[in-house]
Amino acid sequence: MEWDLFKKAVDSLKGFNGMAGLMGGEPTLHPEFERFARYLGENYGIKETLKRGRKPIRNFQKYITEEMLSIKNHGRCLCSSLGSGYYKNYEVIQETFHYQLLNDHQHDGKHQGILISRKDLGIDDKEWIPLRDACWLQNNWSASITPKGAFFCEIAAALDILFEGPGGWEIEPGWWERTPDQFGRQLGWCELCGIAIRGPKTCAKDERDDVSPSLLEKLKNSGSPKIAAGKYRIYNPIDIVKERSDYTPGKPFYLPNGDKKERLNNSNRTIFPRDIKGIMILPDEFRINYEDFKNVRDSLDGLLVIHRGKINKEIKSFFKSIDVHSLQEELFNFGSFIKKGIQILEAKDWIAIVAYNCFLSPKFRQDIMTTVFNPGCYYVYYNYPNQKKEEKTNSKEEKSGWNKNETHSFSFLNVRANQLKHTEFETIATHEQMISNWNKGKIFFFKLKDQKQCNTQYSIDDFLNFDDRS
Ligand code: SF4
Repeated sequence: MEWDLFKKAVDSLKGFNGMAGLMGGEPTLHPEFERFARYLGENYGIKETLKRGRKPIRNFQKYITEEMLSIKNHGRCLCSSLGSGYYKNYEVIQETFHYQLLNDHQHDGKHQGILISRKDLGIDDKEWIPLRDACWLQNNWSASITPKGAFFCEIAAALDILFEGPGGWEIEPGWWERTPDQFGRQLGWCELCGIAIRGPKTCAKDERDDVSPSLLEKLKNSGSPKIAAGKYRIYNPIDIVKERSDYTPGKPFYLPNGDKKERLNNSNRTIFPRDIKGIMILPDEFRINYEDFKNVRDSLDGLLVIHRGKINKEIKSFFKSIDVHSLQEELFNFGSFIKKGIQILEAKDWIAIVAYNCFLSPKFRQDIMTTVFNPGCYYVYYNYPNQKKEEKTNSKEEKSGWNKNETHSFSFLNVRANQLKHTEFETIATHEQMISNWNKGKIFFFKLKDQKQCNTQYSIDDFLNFDDRS
């Protein structure tokens, strides 16, 4: 869908009292998804920026089922199968959509077959009309807008695209106020839809569609790649007679209880960090423990060391041997270090900014890689004790700014953070400035168990027991 049409669609909902949402296909893959989501957030429904999904999440399945499945009038909804688009847009998604219908379809939850015609099953008009008018999906779910217009039902809208139908109503203010007696020819799509007659349910990960004979012919004629690949099953009308016997008009059964609990396969890694590149800021005086340093390097997917003084040949060749970049900088500027780090490391995902004596264990990395973090947030381990701030510094140090590099320990941010899009990196001279500039609701502090120990081994538990300064 193009931007102008999307805007028109959202604007046409003025006065609508229900939820309005984005669905697909996979809406998060649209190249302008973020722009669309922000426009919807600013122009439809409750004026609020949601704050959930900012803390690190270990159990995303629980988050989905406990926090995101409550319907809200004037709320905003997103239907997504997760994946790379959801990951990329995680920040805007969490702050925009009240209700998220997430389902990766890689589990045993069931979905009802749609591509089934009542005529193939011998259902006459007398039986059909009451069934159609009591269609549980239409009564519980949504009208829809596609590039071809507005429709009374989302399935009708999808079928109109699939079978190159005549299109929907003009997208104009109040189009959604139509009542069933005004649905007119759009009801013709019900003839090609098995939802109201309560057809077969298939395991979501089966990837095959149940189709009745006349629909199979139509799909073949329309060049369906799925049908061509043989990913279908002819629906046997004999079975539906059994199914119909316990039909209860209006009772939703599309997502049985089991499906509500299980929406994400445990092996789905699409929402976890892809990689972590590190920027290490060395103090003027340092001693490198080669083994510990190598462990730090091994815990990251790339490492840049930034230093002021010269480093000797031995350390240089050690860095080279373990593929560590180094950068000598006369002036200390935290923001420019991040900017240069992102460029040199070609970072596209997470960046860890670490003090030189951080010890990052493989276990800690493993835990981070199986935790969901919000790319809009800045996660910071408490700094070292501030005793060095009180030390006297000479004027040369003050000018260079390097004396301020004393308190930073470990922090974690994403190069896609919305905050960074509006940041002039060079204006962030110190880590303290970085913290004070960051959106207060999106910064989380973590405590080391023993703050006096610079080389404390970090633990994911520290990350989860955060000190929320928002
Ligand atoms: S039968 Fe199908 S097309 Fe008709 S209202 Fe129900 S879901 Fe929509």
